[in-house]
Amino acid sequence: MSLLVVGSVAFDSVKTPFGVAEDVLGGSATYFSTAASYFTDVKLVAVVGDDFPEKHVSFLKSRKVDVEGLQRTAGKTFRWKGEYGYDLNEAKTLETHLNVFEGFKPEVPESYKKPDVLFLANIDPVLQREVLHQVERPKLVACDTMNFWIGGKRAELVRTLAEVDILLINEGEARELAGEPNLVKAAKAIQGMGPSTLVIKRGEYGALLFGTDYVFSAPAYPLESVFDPTGAGDSFAGGFVGYLDNMHNFDEKSLKQAIIFGSVMASFNVEDFSLNRMKSLDYKEIESRYREFRKLTLFDDIA
Ligand code: AMP
Repeated sequence: MSLLVVGSVAFDSVKTPFGVAEDVLGGSATYFSTAASYFTDVKLVAVVGDDFPEKHVSFLKSRKVDVEGLQRTAGKTFRWKGEYGYDLNEAKTLETHLNVFEGFKPEVPESYKKPDVLFLANIDPVLQREVLHQVERPKLVACDTMNFWIGGKRAELVRTLAEVDILLINEGEARELAGEPNLVKAAKAIQGMGPSTLVIKRGEYGALLFGTDYVFSAPAYPLESVFDPTGAGDSFAGGFVGYLDNMHNFDEKSLKQAIIFGSVMASFNVEDFSLNRMKSLDYKEIESRYREFRKLTLFDDIA
C-alpha cells in the first residue's frame, strides 16, 4: 500500500510542567510519518529551510520515510512555540512562524501520484487542497487541522473538508468548528460538511469515533508519566491512518482497531519530549500495548 502525507516539518520549543525543550524536531508531518512508518510505507511532502540539519532527514530515512517530496528552500524552517499547564490536554500556542511555508508551492513527485491513502496533516488548508488535487483520487482521504486554521482560514478549511472522508480533530476544535457545545451535535454538523467519519480526540479521556451509523469510544492509556503531549494528535493519526493503509480496508471493524493503534502511538509519544520515545520504539511494544488496551475495556455481558 502507499500512504502520502503533507504537513509541517518544524522546530518546536515546548514548555511543560516537567521540563523545557528548545528548537527540537517537531511538526505535524514529522510525528505522523514516524508513527505511521511502524505500519506502512510513507511518502512525505513538506518544506524546510536551509537551517534544517541533515541528521533530522537521516532520521526520517532511517524510518524508511520517502523524503523525495521534502523540499529545501532558502529561509527558515517553520517554528512553533507552545506551553502546557498541569492540564496537559490543551496546548497554549505562544508563537507560530510559518517561515518557508508562507511561499510554499507543493510539488508532488511523479512517484507519489497514485497514493492509496492521503493524509492532510495540520497545515494551511489551501496547501492541503493543492496536494489533494495533484494526485489521482486516493481510496481514502483523511485530514487533521487546528484552531489556528479554524479561526484564521475557516472558508478555505470548509472547502477542503468537502473533499475529505475522515477528519481527526480535538474536542475543543470540534466545538469551535461546528459552533456547537454539545459534542454529538457538533459531530453531526461536521459530518454534514463532508467527512463521513469523524474522530474526536479527547486527550487523557480517549477518543470517539463517529461513523455513518455508529459511535465507538476508545479509552486513553492510563499512563503514570506524561512529559510532553506535543505531537500526540499527529502520532495518533499516524497509528490510525498507517494501520488502515496497511489493512487496505476501511470498514467499521478496521476503523475500530485503527483507533486503538492511534491511541497506542499517542500514548508512547507523550512519554518523552519531541520524537524521542518513538525513536526507541519497537513494534513488539506496540502490539503488547494494543493488547493492554483490549484488557482495559473488555467486560462481560449481564448474566
Ligand atoms: P499536536 O499533535 O496537535 O500536538 O501537534 C503538534 C505539532 O503541530 C507541533 O510539532 C507543531 O510543530 C505543529 N504545529 C503547530 N501549529 C501548527 C500550524 N499552525 N500549522 C502546522 N503545524 C503546526
